[in-house]
Amino acid sequence: MSTQGEPSFRQSVDLMFNRAAALMDLPPGLEEKIRVCNATYTVRFGVRLRGEIRTFTGYRSVHSEHFEPAKGGIRYAPNVHQDEVEALAALMTYKCALVEAPFGGSKGGLCIDPREYEDFELEQITRRFAYELIKRDMINPAQNVPAPDMGTGEREMAIIADQFARMNTTDINAKACVTGKPPHAGGIQGRVEATGRGVEYALQEFFRHPEDVAKAGLSGKLDGKRIIVQGLGNVGYHAAQFLSTEDGSIITHIIERDGALENPKGLNVNAVRDWIAEHGGVKDCPEGTYHADGLRMLEAECDILIPAAIEGVINMHNATRIKAPLIIEAANGPITAGADEILRKHGCVIIPDLYANAGGVTVSYFEWVKNLSHIRFGRMQRRQEEARHQLIVDELERLDKHLGGAWSMTPDFKERYLRGAGELELVRSGLDDTMRTAYQSMREVWHSHNEVSDLRTAGFMVAIGRVASSYRAKGL
Ligand code: NAD
Repeated sequence: MSTQGEPSFRQSVDLMFNRAAALMDLPPGLEEKIRVCNATYTVRFGVRLRGEIRTFTGYRSVHSEHFEPAKGGIRYAPNVHQDEVEALAALMTYKCALVEAPFGGSKGGLCIDPREYEDFELEQITRRFAYELIKRDMINPAQNVPAPDMGTGEREMAIIADQFARMNTTDINAKACVTGKPPHAGGIQGRVEATGRGVEYALQEFFRHPEDVAKAGLSGKLDGKRIIVQGLGNVGYHAAQFLSTEDGSIITHIIERDGALENPKGLNVNAVRDWIAEHGGVKDCPEGTYHADGLRMLEAECDILIPAAIEGVINMHNATRIKAPLIIEAANGPITAGADEILRKHGCVIIPDLYANAGGVTVSYFEWVKNLSHIRFGRMQRRQEEARHQLIVDELERLDKHLGGAWSMTPDFKERYLRGAGELELVRSGLDDTMRTAYQSMREVWHSHNEVSDLRTAGFMVAIGRVASSYRAKGL
């Protein structure tokens, strides 16, 4: 526990795990085997920058290897530490199990504030960090496959893939050593927005179940729902953008590092993002009213709260003041175990991180499979699918002619029906299916066990059950 009685991030994850495991009938010892982190590697390396040698500290933690490779992002942040990386690696194990991605759990971190470095310096640092991990097989298509997380993105992933290829010149599967690469460097369409898109699909699925919606004291669909988003980075931006432009939701607050913007009529997400890109924060952005105390805005009235920045922002100090009836954890660990208990008692429904932000690893899984199969999704079937659809359209047109033009097709039906699915459509369909199926597996446990009062416990139970089955199949 920390000094204020608040559990650390890793302790929070363990407490949540324990709550679920206590309701399961696991063989003696297996519970601990699943919970503990297998290994954490710490590396310190020097890079010559600006006329001096600067030393950096990085971590790669492997929580479980019941499936290999182990999978999990690499985070660049100034205060990354071992406890945090281990908590994130554990979450990856449960996340992958919940969405049935055949991976163990892993995570990496580098203590660095990327905003302090030029692009070419970040490349040097990333290459050196990757080198240290690659030479110990902690980046490897068969053993450990990183992805982007806070502070990293497509560019860093492309650099890591290139570094691996330089060190493994004859490995035909080299590109599968990392996911989240840009499409022109072996990536997949739809990966950049995958986590935010997954948050949208998760909410859409939640709102397909009126019983669940009622538990949060809400009704109807996403249309018109007032949403607060914290963190307009990769995950928060895409979630907010899709929810406001495709689902009719209203983004009333955007909270960033330097404060928050409020507009009860709805913020223009793209305009706010462009402002942040130009000015480095939300202050003075004309899209809404500025509040210097951003954290306070987590407590504003809304229908849905989306924390999409960092861990621990909803804690024992502010949990009682949170008014949102529904919180979806787009970030990892935004609600501490103590706050989780307070919120549950108040009837708040929490869609937990291990499910809510699993869109990223789901599409990473598709990218990894694409890299290993060396062919773009849809390349073989698309035109054949279109040809079969053309047959039906031709036949309908022939019948129509025969009947003297009695019926006509809706104007864009032909165009839409004839269009075969490309990579992006297939990725979206696979992601949507994954998010729906995983939610249904959680809600089944939520509704069928009297002792299970929340989606998080249900999600952990599904995940732990699957990891346990996998260990049992190995004879453990
Ligand atoms: P990012 O670096 O792209 O964006 C983070 C955003 O949060 C930035 O805009 C930053 O300014 C803001 N932020 C940071 N500290 C803040 C604070 N104290 N208050 C308000 N805003 C703050 O990171 P990301 O990739 O969007 O990741 C965000 C969260 O989602 C993390 O918890 C990460 O682990 C999780 N996540 C990311 C992915 C992914 O694919 N990128 C996948 C799963 C989970």
